[in-house]
Amino acid sequence: MDCIAMYIDGQWVESDSGNVTDIVNPANGRVIAQATRGTAADVDNAVAAAKRAFAPGSAWRTLTADDRAALMVKAADLIEARAEKLAVAETNSMGRVYRETRYDDVYAASGAFRYYASLVHELQGKASAENGDMMTVTVREPLGVCAVIAPWNYSMGTTAAGMAPALAAGNPVVVKPSSLAPVATAMMFEALAEAGFPAGSVNLVLGSGGEVGSALAAHPDVAKITFTGGTETGRDIIGRSATSVKRYSMELGGKSPFIMFDDADLDVAVDRLMFGIFLSQGQVCIAGSRLLVQQGVAERVLDMLKERVPKIRIGMPLDPDTEFGPMVSKRHMERVLDYIRLGVEEGARILIGGHRIAEGAFGEGYFVEPTVLVDCTQDMRVVQEEIFGPVLTVQTFADEEEAIRLANGTRYGLAGGVFTSDLGRALRVCSGVNTGIMWANAYLEDTAGMAVSPHRQSGMSVDGGLDGLLEYTVLKQINLKMTPAKSGWFAGME
Ligand code: NDP
Repeated sequence: MDCIAMYIDGQWVESDSGNVTDIVNPANGRVIAQATRGTAADVDNAVAAAKRAFAPGSAWRTLTADDRAALMVKAADLIEARAEKLAVAETNSMGRVYRETRYDDVYAASGAFRYYASLVHELQGKASAENGDMMTVTVREPLGVCAVIAPWNYSMGTTAAGMAPALAAGNPVVVKPSSLAPVATAMMFEALAEAGFPAGSVNLVLGSGGEVGSALAAHPDVAKITFTGGTETGRDIIGRSATSVKRYSMELGGKSPFIMFDDADLDVAVDRLMFGIFLSQGQVCIAGSRLLVQQGVAERVLDMLKERVPKIRIGMPLDPDTEFGPMVSKRHMERVLDYIRLGVEEGARILIGGHRIAEGAFGEGYFVEPTVLVDCTQDMRVVQEEIFGPVLTVQTFADEEEAIRLANGTRYGLAGGVFTSDLGRALRVCSGVNTGIMWANAYLEDTAGMAVSPHRQSGMSVDGGLDGLLEYTVLKQINLKMTPAKSGWFAGME
């Protein structure tokens, strides 16, 4: 069986621990690969290699911006050349359906490298000559070793979204993917190695979050941590890493409201709602997991869901026609089913779904039905907590003021959507809801190159666009005096 290795200092290596992690296909419960299980010592080696790559005069530091951009474009081409292999690996190891991994994830990853390659010349500072014969300039410098700790969902996309701006700005990187789904990330590193990134500039460590992730986060030579994952893990990382001063990009959990007014085009709104909550089996940080629907149309919307949700094509994730696959792991499936049970105990009613799918071949995998819970109230844990599965909670509201209040009534602030034909109301709701992304009459669509920033307990970062690139730089001010002159401050120095 394949054993996935780490990539440290330009070499593929297995950990001295001798231990491996089984990679399980969640569609059938079978072990499909093994990954070497790294330790804190492997993290030390990777960070040391990255630190060497950052030293003045190194092969990485002496690349020009054009050289870096060319490497990144080559990496993007090589990722795309492996599109089929990458998509199949990702689908087999985390259950995301092929039509998503093949046509979204691979291009999200290659696109991040291509996009940030195009911005390398935008790393400019400012100049001022206002102060007599003093010229003051500001320049943007790389930070140093950047750690990228990625989740299992959308693993290629989130890993590339962290690596690409870091590399474009001239930083070396150490990546730690989720131990549930490191396969596609390791393949992406084959593309980076083939592209010719200098030794130590891109490193991959494998192993558990508790050992390898926390050792990386706490490492004193790591200048910045880019973490995508749960809010509790993010807080833990900040706490453990506080032994040195670091920068953070934290993209954390969400519980995003999807607000539907009675003047919305309900046909489109219900379609987008289903896309927003059932895509990737709801394992999406910005999933629209809380439907807030205006009282007058609530019954009609629920009838539409009852008619449409059972038509979702549930199947084996590698089948190109499958729209909805398994949960990433047995443990996660059980967590999602526990939440559904909890919702019922709290007083919610299952309108649609609510069970594990266990018939025939599905019984070997970790499938949960697309589920809609009605009669939900704001205090319920199923409304307050991120389930990260195909579970939509439904609440009704009377007016705009109540919709905004309910939307803001959780600790999260990642995303939200509003459907209404009143543009003024759409704008008021978009500014009234305290989240990093809002959609009006759309959901899960955006424009490349525009930055985004999570609010409240959903994180702290600027991701995307030039603003996102600047997050991987530190500003330096340089003052150049044309004619050296004494200060004249202390007496007796004339
Ligand atoms: P986790 O927080 O469990 O793990 C994320 C990563 O952190 C994994 O690589 C994990 O390793 C590692 N990790 C776990 N514990 C530690 C630790 N103590 N120190 C350092 N690293 C650690 O999240 P999931 O992988 O379960 O991903 C789902 C979560 O990610 C959801 O909450 C989702 O909302 C969030 N997410 C947010 C996004 C955003 O942009 N805001 C995008 C995508 C997901 P290991 O796998 O080995 O445990």
